[in-house]
Amino acid sequence: MRKIVIAGNWKMNKTVAESVKLAADVVAAVKDIRQVVVAIAPTYLALAKVAEVVKGTNVKLAAQDVHWENQGAFTGKVSADMLQEIGVDFVIIGHSEQRTYFGETDETVNKKVRKVLSLGMGPIICIGETLAERQGGQLESVLTTQVNGAYAGLSADDARRTVVAYEPVWAIGTGVTASDDEAQQAHAFVRGLLAKLYGDSVAQSISIQYGGSMKPENAAGLLGQPDIDGGLIGGAALKADSFLGIITPGESAAQST
Ligand code: PEP
Repeated sequence: MRKIVIAGNWKMNKTVAESVKLAADVVAAVKDIRQVVVAIAPTYLALAKVAEVVKGTNVKLAAQDVHWENQGAFTGKVSADMLQEIGVDFVIIGHSEQRTYFGETDETVNKKVRKVLSLGMGPIICIGETLAERQGGQLESVLTTQVNGAYAGLSADDARRTVVAYEPVWAIGTGVTASDDEAQQAHAFVRGLLAKLYGDSVAQSISIQYGGSMKPENAAGLLGQPDIDGGLIGGAALKADSFLGIITPGESAAQST
């Protein structure tokens, strides 16, 4: 059965000292969480220190991006084996901010996904439509292109080790959330795409997170949907208590399935 995976994407927030403190607060807050896979994604700068804080706990470590090459002249980038060395479990790939501001394409997403999988880490593959695309009736075509692009050439065994984050771009950091129904419909569509690529059993095993202004007030409704298997959380992950306020309904949802 697929897992509920709730990951905090801290983006470009928190100094190293603040990250260590927030990581310690998250570790304390979730120590009794058993069913939900909890992960936190600090900046690259704070990853190694936060790795020490989460070591041996039930909090997994995630990175916010990666480069697909092993090493070399790629100023500003970090490779997958560097992340693996310090104990990273998940890597967020293809976040809409990467796609919008830093030229991420479905092709670079695919290269990163393959590299991360080859080193035994789990990619969190972000997909989602802009408001103009949704209003223009392109939701399904956008999701189809992004899913097919991200999974190009991946085996079924590889696919089983991925997590998808469906994040409508218009809901990220805006305070506007997709309704439970809108989110469920998009998640079911994405699972259908995965089923076309790999068959139903693989598609049923892949966790599909929702992302976009998820917070304690709306988490139970979203996480109660049959195809929503967790969340990728931005703003509400920057405080341990609001992050826990999303994880707790996730734990209840996991127990009721
Ligand atoms: C995100 O960055 O992936 C995200 C969903 O952000 P927020 O929760 O702030 O909308």
